[in-house]
Amino acid sequence: MPTTELGSSERLLNELRLWVEHETPTTDAAAVNGLMDRCQADLVAVGGAVERLPGRDGYGDTLVCRTPGQGAPIVIAGHLDTVWDHGTLAGPMPFRIEGAKAFGPGIYDMKAGSFMAFHSVREILRQGTRTKRPITLLLTPDEEVGSPTSRAPIEQLAKGARAVLIPEPAGAGGACVTARKGVGRFEVAIQGVSAHAGGNWSEGRSAVVALARLITQVHALTDLAAGITTNVAPIWGGTRPNVIPPEAGCEIDLRVPTIAEGERLEALILGMAGTTDGITIRITGGMNRPPFAETPAIVELYTRAKGFAAAHGYELPVQHRGGGSDGNFTAALGVPTLDGLGCTGAGAHAPHEHILWPDLAPRCATLCDLLESID
Ligand SMILES: [Zn+2]
Repeated sequence: MPTTELGSSERLLNELRLWVEHETPTTDAAAVNGLMDRCQADLVAVGGAVERLPGRDGYGDTLVCRTPGQGAPIVIAGHLDTVWDHGTLAGPMPFRIEGAKAFGPGIYDMKAGSFMAFHSVREILRQGTRTKRPITLLLTPDEEVGSPTSRAPIEQLAKGARAVLIPEPAGAGGACVTARKGVGRFEVAIQGVSAHAGGNWSEGRSAVVALARLITQVHALTDLAAGITTNVAPIWGGTRPNVIPPEAGCEIDLRVPTIAEGERLEALILGMAGTTDGITIRITGGMNRPPFAETPAIVELYTRAKGFAAAHGYELPVQHRGGGSDGNFTAALGVPTLDGLGCTGAGAHAPHEHILWPDLAPRCATLCDLLESID
């Protein structure tokens, strides 16, 4: 039976509070790196082998910490960035505790989960716990904008891993995640021909009318039974009511359940581009997070986690989610990935964002049991 002692939820919350009070908007590399520095120092202090990958393109660094051992590792990955700008703490969302709820910017998505991952690995190192496999902890700077700079290291470390654990926020009822939809993003630019709406109507070609047709075509691709959705927003176009609009455009969000559907829908949307009767439609973009599909190996990981959760006194339901995470990248490589292992709570990216802090210790214990026991 695993033996790592993790401490009480109160103690975990006291330290998590320091992480929340260090604001880390994705767009401020220095702020994200400040929290990376703290993590690095704490891990080095317990003998962790830490590697720091320098940030680029205006994003912070990525931190990798490895524990000793042989064979394919267990990777546990969390992001330190949040969607909240500086000043959120001092303004509308100070850190505060109300009963079982602890509020603060990014506490639920996903400082609590990343802290639980960090703390589990730190305690395994500090206590010299023998795990079945080596563990690779990965803390990243840019998940909230689609992981442009951390995707490559995430995929590189996940390749050849035995399993990947992602402590993104738990869902309703504390659910973890065994599947997520793939996400596509497209931008549409339409060029028409402007003309006086009164004097020269016939010479004009309305980009707005072409956009309206395209929107209904894209909307018609939605197939709820098949798990496919599209959303067009925002849209723009035209200049004045008396001018036939020469330009219009939109963005498109696409969600799909499988790689094959992603390829099919991507081709359909990109296929709407072209030139007819004075109207030119250009479409750029494509799938940016591949679908994370449930496999028997993922169900096996979930079954283990559920057993540990029961031993720590709580239910661990399961959920398939529409939103993407870094788990999409690792699951698409065929590496068994279990997600949503972070803390319970609600309000990701919303002003009421909070965790249910008494769940910190039992959920952290499950994470730790998984890290120690996966063989
Ligand atoms: Zn997140």
